[in-house]
Order: sequence, then C-alpha cells, then structure tokens
Amino acid sequence: MDITLSQAAEIIKSSDNIIITAHINPDGDAIGSLLALAIYIKDCGKNVTCILDDDIPEKFNFMPNISLIQKPSNIIKSDLLIVLDSSDIERIGKVAQMVQAPILNIDHHISNIKFADYLYLDADAAATGEIIFELLESQKCKFNKDIATCLYTAIATDCGFFRYANTSASTMRIAAKLIEAGVSPNMISEKIEKKSLENMRALIKALESLEFFLDNKVGVLSITEDILNICDNTEGFIDFPRVIDGVEIAILFKCVQDNLCRVSMRSKSVDVSSIAKIFNGGGHKRAAGCSILLPINEAKKLLIDTIAKQMKNGATDV
Ligand code: 5GP
Ligand code: MN
Ligand code: MN
Repeated sequence: MDITLSQAAEIIKSSDNIIITAHINPDGDAIGSLLALAIYIKDCGKNVTCILDDDIPEKFNFMPNISLIQKPSNIIKSDLLIVLDSSDIERIGKVAQMVQAPILNIDHHISNIKFADYLYLDADAAATGEIIFELLESQKCKFNKDIATCLYTAIATDCGFFRYANTSASTMRIAAKLIEAGVSPNMISEKIEKKSLENMRALIKALESLEFFLDNKVGVLSITEDILNICDNTEGFIDFPRVIDGVEIAILFKCVQDNLCRVSMRSKSVDVSSIAKIFNGGGHKRAAGCSILLPINEAKKLLIDTIAKQMKNGATDV
C-alpha cells in the first residue's frame, strides 16, 4: 500500500521493536540511511536492530554507529521491518526469510516493484537519505553531528558528490543544513573516495578491457577473475567509460562466478532501469544494475543486442 511520509512516521511511532535493513552490496545511501534512522529511533527510546546480509566495505568504517550493523543469524519476530533503498525484496538477501514483521519500504527507485505492506516511494529524491532527512525533519528531530554525517554520506554518494542529474536544489538545501549540523564534507569525501594501491592496479587492468559498441555509444569494461584477484572492489570504475565523449551508456560486467555476471549501467540519455528490468534487475533511469546467468562474453553479447533493439525502437528514451 502506498503511504505518505506522515503515515510512515506514524507507523514508526506506533512500533516499539523495530528492525532496519537495506540492500546487499551496500552503498553509502543504504548504510547512511540505515544508520541515521537507527540513531533517531534509538534516541526516541525504542528497540532498534540493524541487520544487513552482506559485508560492509571498509571505507564506511568511519560512519557513526557502524558497529550496530549485524548479519542475520536467527529468525526474529518484530513489530516492524523497515527496508531502505531497496526496490525488490530479493535485494535484502536472507533478511526477508529471517525477520517476521510487517514491512515498511522507504525508497527512491523508479523500478520499485511494490513488495512491501507499506511503501513510501519518492523517485525524485536523489537518495533514500534525502527522504530520511525529510522524515526526521517532519518529526522535529535535532540533527546531531552523527545523524548528519550518516545522511550527508547517503546523499553525497548517490548523487556523485552533487554532480549527477538527480542533484536538485532541494538536495543542495538539505546538504547545507547537514553541514550546519556539523558535517565535514572534505572528511567524508576523503574517506569515501580513498583508493588502495591494489584498487588502482585493478583499475589499470580493467581499463585495458575497454571496448566500444553501437557506433561508440556504448562503452564497456569487463572485470574478469584475474582483475578481481587483485582487488574485488570495482566501485567507481564505471565512471571512466561514463565520461567519454559520445558514450551514451557505460556498462561494467563483473564476472562473479563462471556463469554469473553482475552488471552495472550508467547513462546520459537512455532509461537503463527499463533495460535492467528485462533481466530482473532495476535501479534509476540513469543508473541501474542486474545479474545475468551467463559467462561474461555471452552476457555481453546478449545485453548489447538487447540495448541495440531497445534503442532502435526508441523504447528507452528518457
Ligand atoms: P550499481 O550499478 O551502483 O550497483 O547500481 C545502480 C543502481 O541500480 C542502484 O540504485 C542499485 O540499487 C540498482 N541496482 C543494481 N543492481 C540491481 C539489481 O540487481 N536489482 C535491482 N532491483 N536494482 C539494482
Ligand atoms: Mn543504494
Ligand atoms: Mn539510493
């Protein structure tokens, strides 16, 4: 059921034991939104448990209360499960089976499949963190430095530090308020954008794989096992084909098993969330992802052929 933000606030208020989760392969928005909401709910005197079915990338260790996040271990009953930044129940991994509670989903993905008992969706929000800011502000929350740091990280990471098309005047206003609450933007960007030596070496190898398709409108990086053996964190690699003049869609294929590829897409003019949906994935018009159950070369051919057809039909124009 679609609900308003004030209804979401009421549902939270009327629950005493709350579990919060977010999507696997967590990014700054998933972790930042989760922690900010957890700190607020805890400060309201309620029981809050943070569960995430994945490892937390080391670069997020600076975030306040990061140690609150646990992996799911046994089945728990609760008053409410809040699912953040996730458009699909499969995105929360095992948490879906481990927690027995009504689900409140707060999200900003246009591809949201409306799986929850209660859904607050704002596809115009640059990040789920923006929605959490509005939710907390509507409840007269005092934004302390910890909450502000989590929300700033959530918002800044999802809008490419205020560069992507989802950056709005409201995004900037919220960021300004968070800075007034004590956030240090340079500290956060240093922590998030920091790269290890291995990561750089993997990037050099990944760039050697750069290929172009469909009149150079599609730029592709292929992350094979040898690259993942150097470093398995490939975040940000897709920005290299993305910024090439003439490239409309950047794609990163990551070979996670012999017959399984993770795919990330970024676009300037094409709705890649609709392409990801064809492969049971999702995301936003300009940033989406999916998994394809094929070896990397076959997955590449299938996806490029699908994009060619979609572009020819004009089905994916934004
Ligand atoms: P990324 O390429 O950074 O992994 O993901 C880009 C966007 O697409 C993010 O908003 C992410 O949540 C979404 N996304 C990535 N992979 C999937 C997927 O397999 N399923 C769904 N529903 N969304 C995805
Ligand atoms: Mn996310
Ligand atoms: Mn997000």
